[in-house]
Amino acid sequence: MKTFAYARAGTPEQAARDAAAPGARFIAGGTNLLDLMKLQVETPETLVDITRLPLNDIEDKNGGLSIGALVPNSDLAADPRVVARYPVLARAILAGASGQLRNKATTAGNLLQRTRCYYFYDTAAPCNKRDPGNGCAATGGHTRILAVLGTSPQCIATHPSDMAVAMLALDATVVTLKPDGDRRRIALADFHRLPGDTPHIETVLEAGELITHVDLPAPPPEARQLYRKVRDRASYAFALVSVAGVVAVEDGRIAHAALAFGGLAPKPWRDPAVEAALIGREPATAAFEAAADALLANAKGYGANDFKIPLARRTLIASLRDLTETPR
Ligand code: SF4
Repeated sequence: MKTFAYARAGTPEQAARDAAAPGARFIAGGTNLLDLMKLQVETPETLVDITRLPLNDIEDKNGGLSIGALVPNSDLAADPRVVARYPVLARAILAGASGQLRNKATTAGNLLQRTRCYYFYDTAAPCNKRDPGNGCAATGGHTRILAVLGTSPQCIATHPSDMAVAMLALDATVVTLKPDGDRRRIALADFHRLPGDTPHIETVLEAGELITHVDLPAPPPEARQLYRKVRDRASYAFALVSVAGVVAVEDGRIAHAALAFGGLAPKPWRDPAVEAALIGREPATAAFEAAADALLANAKGYGANDFKIPLARRTLIASLRDLTETPR
């Protein structure tokens, strides 16, 4: 690990100002950043410690919830309001990492965690995300865990979060504080960037911009929620494919559908065409197949991950059956 300066922020405003300096990074739980620093994939000059900031609360807000950036994943998954009203979120969080990691990992840090592409962690391999312009060892390499949607010739990595996939299906908003004191609200759907020619730029955050909260609107009434994760082993593994669904059926027709996907793309993935293929239709195989067609119309495999395309189809259709079947 390379040496770095350490600064403990006393207020959110000070944290944002300190982190605007070149080479500065926020640190909270550190469950991803410290690993990356030990491997010298990340070499910050300054760590701005935000763990003592008052961003630890989950508050009721406009019928929904306002979640502090530092709320640990474990606390969020166990909150009675989340369990009762946002079960897709509780299940997604509990499907990720381990108990120890969830106790340390924070809400904002989960959104900002970096890809687990093998080559990103191997500093001997070319990687445009780690070293822009250096090439991509994954294309033509071992691609089993990599993306089939939203890729570019420069990067085919996946975003690893489960929590973010559920939050995307719940229409979450990221609330931030900039170094100049301005605040902004960013729809989670607009928060992560696709790789394009700049895979090292993963979000729309500006230098020093601090996530302070994540807001969830009230969940749609009468909607069923589900998180289904397919992975290589039953725990402590990233998704090959995951589906977060929030679906309501009224008078025999699908009235509300919000579907987000993990393991398939460089960011948590949501495609309005998938939901348009479902709204107003009977909850039956024809509509489910149409949704899968819409999801995968532009999917592209890279050899060892070709299996993700039929797997995503089967996982989506099975999820839609569970979300819409009449209880027995
Ligand atoms: Fe790096 Fe992305 Fe290529 Fe992986 S897929 S080696 S993260 S550029």
